[in-house]
Amino acid sequence: MVSKTTALSGFFGSPSPYRCIRCGFCLSACPTYRLEPLEPDSPRGRLALLESLAGGTPHSPASVSHLDRCLGCRSCEASCPAGVKAALEIHAVKLQNDQDFPGRFFRRVWRLGCRTFLTDNARLFRLLKTLIFLKRTLLLETLARIPGFAAFGGREGLAALLPSAVHRPAARPLIMPALKKEVYRVAFFTGCVMEIVLRPANDAAVELLRSAGCAVILPTGQVCCGALSCHGGDTKTAAGLARRNIEAFSGAGPYDFLVCASAACTVHLREYPSLFPDDPAMRQKAELFAALVRDFSEIIYELKPNVEPVFPVPVAYHESCLLRNSAAPGAMGKLLLGLPKAEAFPAPHSGCCGSAGGYNLRHPGTALSLLDAEITALDRSGACTLVTDNPGCLLFLSHGLKRRNLSGKITVKHLAEFLKPRGV
Ligand code: SF4
Ligand code: SF4
Repeated sequence: MVSKTTALSGFFGSPSPYRCIRCGFCLSACPTYRLEPLEPDSPRGRLALLESLAGGTPHSPASVSHLDRCLGCRSCEASCPAGVKAALEIHAVKLQNDQDFPGRFFRRVWRLGCRTFLTDNARLFRLLKTLIFLKRTLLLETLARIPGFAAFGGREGLAALLPSAVHRPAARPLIMPALKKEVYRVAFFTGCVMEIVLRPANDAAVELLRSAGCAVILPTGQVCCGALSCHGGDTKTAAGLARRNIEAFSGAGPYDFLVCASAACTVHLREYPSLFPDDPAMRQKAELFAALVRDFSEIIYELKPNVEPVFPVPVAYHESCLLRNSAAPGAMGKLLLGLPKAEAFPAPHSGCCGSAGGYNLRHPGTALSLLDAEITALDRSGACTLVTDNPGCLLFLSHGLKRRNLSGKITVKHLAEFLKPRGV
C-alpha cells in the first residue's frame, strides 16, 4: 500500500487541483486517455486521485501507476478553461512521494547518470560514443538480456534514443557578428545533448540568427539546463545547474535575448525561478534571466530572414509538446506555413511522440504506441521531411521511422537545419 500524501505542493507555482471543475475539456487532449479511454488515465481522473491522496486515502500500486503514466506533456493544461496545472501537480506529488512510485531503481540510476554525464559535455560525449559502439557491435543486445535492464526500456529503450554519431565538444568563438545591420544582440544557449548530438543544428541556428541580423554571444561556463534532472526528481542538481547558467550568462555582457534551439530546454530555462522557492535573491536573478529566454523559432519568426528549405518538401512539422503547451506555441508552424516553397503542414500526432524526457525508457509500451500512431499518420500524409524543434523528439521520431523501414522515405531534421538563408 502507498503512504499518504501530506499536501499538494504548489510546485512551480501551480494552483490547487481543487479548482478542477470536472468539465472534461482536457480528456481528448490527453495522449494516454486517447490511447486507452479510461478515466484514471485522464487528467481529470488523475486530479481526482491526487485529491483523494491529499485527503489521506491510501492508494493501491495500481492507482499510483495511473499517475506514473502521465507524460508531463501539459496538453491538458493548454486545453483547460479553469487554468488547472494538472501536469505540474502530478509531477509535484510524484516528487513528494518518490518512495511510493514504481521505478525507484530506474530513477536512482537516471539521477546519477544526469549528475555525472549531463554536467560535463566531454563525459557525455564519451558515454554516448561507448553506447554507440556497444549498439553497433550488438553488445547492447547482450546487455539487454541482463536482469535489471528492463528498467531502461529493455532491448529497444536505450537504443531508441541513441544517435548514429556524436560530436566531440569544441570551443566556440565568444562572439559572432551579425551578417547584416545588427537588430539584436543575443546570447546563445548550446546545451548538452543538443551540442554533442545535434551540433550541426546548433551551428545552423547560429548562422540563421546572424543572417537575420543578430550578433551572437556564446558564453563560456554554460552547462546543461537541468531539465532531465528535474524530470527525474533531482531538483537539487537542477538548481545547481541553474545557478551555473545564470552566472555564466550574467557574465556575458548585455544582450537582448537568450536564444535556445532546443524546445525542452527553452521551457525549462523559463522555469528557473521555480527552482528557488526559499531563496528570494536567487529567485530574483532567475526571474531576470528567464524573462529574456526565447526559443530559436520565436526569434526567427519575428525577424523573418530571407530563407528557403534545404530538404525535400512537403514538410510536416512536429512541435514539441512542452513548447506548444507553454512557452512559444506556434512560432515554428507560423514560420513554415509562411514559406510557400516548404508546402508545410502540422504533423498529425496525438499530443506527444512518447519521448518525453526519458518516458520511453520507463514506459516503453505506451511510448511506442504513441510513436507508432504518429509514424502511421505521417506515412499517409505525403511528407518527405519531418521537422522538429527538440532533440528528444528528433531522436525518437527517427527511431520510429527506422523501425518501420521508412527512413529512406521521410527525413527528420531540426528546424535550423531545414532552412538556409536564400542565395547562400
Ligand atoms: S500532462 Fe499529458 S499525459 Fe499527463 S494528464 Fe496532462 S495531457 Fe495527460
Ligand atoms: S483539468 Fe481543467 S479541463 Fe480537465 S476536467 Fe478539470 S477543469 Fe476541466
